[in-house]
Amino acid sequence: MAISARPEWTTGTDMTNKAIDLGYQRYYGWLLRMGLVRSLIVCTSIATMTSVLCTATVMLLLPDSREYFWYNMIVAVVSPLLSAPGLALIAFAMVYKLDETQTALTLAAETDALTGVANRRYFMSQAERAFVDAQAGGPSFAVVMLDIDHFKAINDTHGHGVGDDVLLDVAQACRQALRASDCFARFGGEEFVALLRGTQGADAAATAEILRKTVATLAFENRTPPAVTVSLGVASYLANSESLHDILNEADRQLYAAKAAGRNQVMAAQGGMRLAS
Ligand code: GH3
Ligand code: MG
Ligand code: MG
Repeated sequence: MAISARPEWTTGTDMTNKAIDLGYQRYYGWLLRMGLVRSLIVCTSIATMTSVLCTATVMLLLPDSREYFWYNMIVAVVSPLLSAPGLALIAFAMVYKLDETQTALTLAAETDALTGVANRRYFMSQAERAFVDAQAGGPSFAVVMLDIDHFKAINDTHGHGVGDDVLLDVAQACRQALRASDCFARFGGEEFVALLRGTQGADAAATAEILRKTVATLAFENRTPPAVTVSLGVASYLANSESLHDILNEADRQLYAAKAAGRNQVMAAQGGMRLAS
């Protein structure tokens, strides 16, 4: 794990960012909030009222046609009553489908396909928000970097399928060990990252230790490999933190130190904690 080889902490490609940011909902959200039945009633009422108003105006402007006033009014009412509900139904169905697609697209753009936890893009958006909030006087936060120990050996010994299973199990176990308000994401390969909101220093190191123990005691009954361990690096937001980049780099440095110290342990920058198994 070479820190210098680490690329910039990017949030992902422009393409998927656009998919998330289009914000279609602001244009049709009111329709979905009303629901199907009320939408049909409202659309049909508007169409009928418009039709009646237009017909009545023409009747008043053309004196010769007044003897057919009531016939025309009946047509003006019946015509939209017959056509508007069908058209409104089609429009509602399209909007509903669009919303479903938008939701699925957003979810896919924020989720790691293999493990089901958040992906790096989502983590970065959450971490950037947490950093801005903390700078504005909001709650502090900490970042925990987690890397599976000797994962290449697991792949080499048991095959990539087992390696994938291990990634899934580790990710799900860590996700469950954290609070719902914490963000846990796959950062890449066999590396994960947690954003602990409102947590700092020794508390963050203690949470990282919980994650370490959670993985070390994962039950791989009747399965290979028999045991998996992780190394973790912790860094907290400080009043003098200049950028999120610095905090992530510090967590990565601590992770590197945990590896160098023998793996299966937590190293924390701020808070002065040094936890070893
Ligand atoms: P260390 O304890 O120093 O972290 O050693 P390591 O073997 O875990 O680290 P190394 O960087 O040498 O190897 C990481 C391996 O993770 C190499 C790569 O093939 C594997 N890997 C990355 N992504 C996936 C994936 O999605 N599935 C599987 N099965 N393997 C993956
Ligand atoms: Mg590793
Ligand atoms: Mg790694």
